[in-house]
Amino acid sequence: MKSDVYFFTARTNTYDESLSKIKGPLALEKLGIKQKINNKDKIVVKTHFGAEENVRYLRPSYIRFLCDYVKELGGVPSVAESCGWGVPGAKGEYGGRANEEEYLAVALKHGFTEETMGAPLMMLDGPDGIDYEIQKINGKRFKEVLVAGRLREFNYLILASHFKGHPGAGYGGAIKNLGIGCVSKGGKIQAHNGKKFKFDFNAPISDYEDCIKICPTKALTEGKNGKLNRDENKCRFCYMCKSVCKNDVIDIGASTQEEFIIQMVDNAKGVVDYFGGKEKIFYINYAIDITYQCDCSGGSDVPFIPDIGILSSSDPVALDQACIDLAHLSSISPHSILGEIKNLPIKDGKCEWFSYIPRFNPETKKVDLNPDGKISKLWEIQLKAAEEVGLGNRNYNLIEVEIEKKKE
Ligand code: SF4
Repeated sequence: MKSDVYFFTARTNTYDESLSKIKGPLALEKLGIKQKINNKDKIVVKTHFGAEENVRYLRPSYIRFLCDYVKELGGVPSVAESCGWGVPGAKGEYGGRANEEEYLAVALKHGFTEETMGAPLMMLDGPDGIDYEIQKINGKRFKEVLVAGRLREFNYLILASHFKGHPGAGYGGAIKNLGIGCVSKGGKIQAHNGKKFKFDFNAPISDYEDCIKICPTKALTEGKNGKLNRDENKCRFCYMCKSVCKNDVIDIGASTQEEFIIQMVDNAKGVVDYFGGKEKIFYINYAIDITYQCDCSGGSDVPFIPDIGILSSSDPVALDQACIDLAHLSSISPHSILGEIKNLPIKDGKCEWFSYIPRFNPETKKVDLNPDGKISKLWEIQLKAAEEVGLGNRNYNLIEVEIEKKKE
């Protein structure tokens, strides 16, 4: 059976076709949110506030109007993100998001505050990223997932995702917002690297000095033998000890691109299972500002295809698949990175663009801009894995919704 996906074009000529104020809430209405929300239900709107240097994250007004709509329906909205990899104070591309305090400082610079949202802001995995619930799953690589714990406080989840590229995952949309965005800090690291977590207990304690200091749960101490002692029961898998250890004495493994994608998909399944599935989650993708980079990246290149619009569904797989398909029916934006790639099989101005966007090279640990146009279907690996794990359906009915023009 096919899943329904609602599509609202990015074309707007008048205020009554507004993408933010009209089409966003209407996209939720099509999913039956009006009939489901009861007075005072707590609704969390999960989005991405953008890495500090990024300029292609979703504009705050898209999210504000979703919050206003939730209030109109009698619900009580909150706006949420989750803590990023690493330690507070870290500089560079992935710095500035290690805990609630520093991520909310970035959010403020990007226009997301309690005042602008009309709703409180929070980290779904708590102020330090260690609030999680363990969800057992029958995943392709994982049997349990560290779901962001503060999801437990809400009746419904609105997953407001920016659809765009991602050099590691092939693309980022609803599935990635679940599998990376709705897990704890450690859940993100496990998606990227797997579950290996091995300490060298013979290493000198000096290699662990900073780990002992930074461990938020006091799971690490110096043992009587002068070597590291780790209390596994106290560990909350923040992996901050790994970020500060010396001489690589903590091994958290590595994953191939394919393993990363599948682990992310397993995480996504754990989040949906934990939260109660289809009936509780409203998915809305903003296929706008479609760069090859993710919002988590400092880079924000020229979008490689024009804006598509807003899509919504109760099925995250159908939703992402529809966004990919519409993107592949699109023409290239002039002066974007794809214009520099040679040998693209462009037919009638169209191409399977997501198969050729720059991708992460695990060997060099850098993004390969793919100047020679090598094909790689990371986007398809993600969608196939998601369908196989039972997250949704790649077959869909695309229902284009036209906005009724108000009479003059
Ligand atoms: S032992 Fe490491 S991963 Fe566990 S809580 Fe402490 S710092 Fe975090």
